[in-house]
Amino acid sequence: MLVLVINSGSSSLKYQVRDVAQGTVLTEGLIEKIGMGNGGGGDGEIEGPRDHAEALELVDAAIHRELGDQELAAVGHRVVHGGERFAEPVLIDNEITRAIERLNPLAPLHNPANVLGIRAITKKWPQMPQVAVFDTAFHRTLPEHAWRYAVPDELYTNHGIRRYGFHGTSHEYVGRRAAALLDIPVEEFDGVIAHLGNGASVTAIKGGHSVDTSMGFTPLEGLVMGTRSGDLDPSILVFLGRAGWTPEDIDSMLNRESGLKGLAGNNDMRSVVEASEGGNARASVALAVASYRLAKYIGGYHVAVGGAKALVFTAGIGENSHQFRALVAERLGALGIELDAGLNTGRSKEPRVISTASSAIPVLVVPTDEERAIAEATAAVVRG
Ligand code: AMP
Repeated sequence: MLVLVINSGSSSLKYQVRDVAQGTVLTEGLIEKIGMGNGGGGDGEIEGPRDHAEALELVDAAIHRELGDQELAAVGHRVVHGGERFAEPVLIDNEITRAIERLNPLAPLHNPANVLGIRAITKKWPQMPQVAVFDTAFHRTLPEHAWRYAVPDELYTNHGIRRYGFHGTSHEYVGRRAAALLDIPVEEFDGVIAHLGNGASVTAIKGGHSVDTSMGFTPLEGLVMGTRSGDLDPSILVFLGRAGWTPEDIDSMLNRESGLKGLAGNNDMRSVVEASEGGNARASVALAVASYRLAKYIGGYHVAVGGAKALVFTAGIGENSHQFRALVAERLGALGIELDAGLNTGRSKEPRVISTASSAIPVLVVPTDEERAIAEATAAVVRG
């Protein structure tokens, strides 16, 4: 069964065609500068497609070139926000599309773009089954004490202000693979998963279900990320507002100029680690703040799950930066966690254990693959 996985952004369209049974990628690509038309301009720059429908024509042509007449069975869309309604992937129809659109205020950059992708497919291939796979869905099992903010109730009832959590597709997929590596059913998996990419979040999983996660109302809450601040005192925003910053200034500062970039001047973990090893003090502070924040969350989530049975690292930094993993683990001595230096620096694309035999709980590195998870979820929904 071939599934086209679509991640539709406001000006980009990322796609992969997956063979679900084989677990392989048949072709993939990225169409950029959608809607930027004549603005492109620069030397040799290709003009972008006018809209998502035109972008889809390019995708269709590219797929045909690569795969000939092989037929797509379904399309799976990565949808960022599923609000309180969507706890699972769903087959898309007009009502579902409108429901995703009604969530636009909660994810103003992402959901409208996801809907553009869905409508473009509907127009081009009206009979094609389409499935929405939500980034928030896995966290619908959070208990109320974990998703509530301690603010007046009407902020929740009138505006939907609560914690939703993100990266759910990745956390769920990695949790399943970690349980398989530990040779236990996923329903018995109690653990903490640290998804550390340019965006980063950590999730507490109990009995295979998400019971807490570090991202909240938006992906800004929680860990120190590439360019996002993560947690801070909300009064800082009030202070800045009074000092004349506009909401847009504050939003841009917190989402695009903060995190590793704000502290070390660079959002790429490789560069920050290199700079720190070369004696750059700002880079060392950035690593200390980021690893300390994550260690605090892991300690808290160890409590949340009633004693984690595993700690799992995933995504760009989690899978590749043995230096950052070591910094975090050094702070977890109180939990009896101990990495094996040789295993930690080893390299593999397969899930693996990196802790010592005497570590209180195993520490794992499990590569994530959100497109694979979306393709599998799509196939499962379509098969009913
Ligand atoms: P992602 O968003 O999952 O693609 O992760 C991006 C982050 O992973 C960036 O901060 C990269 O610096 C980091 N990363 C990717 N490859 C490596 C590597 N080999 N060593 C250290 N960090 C890496």
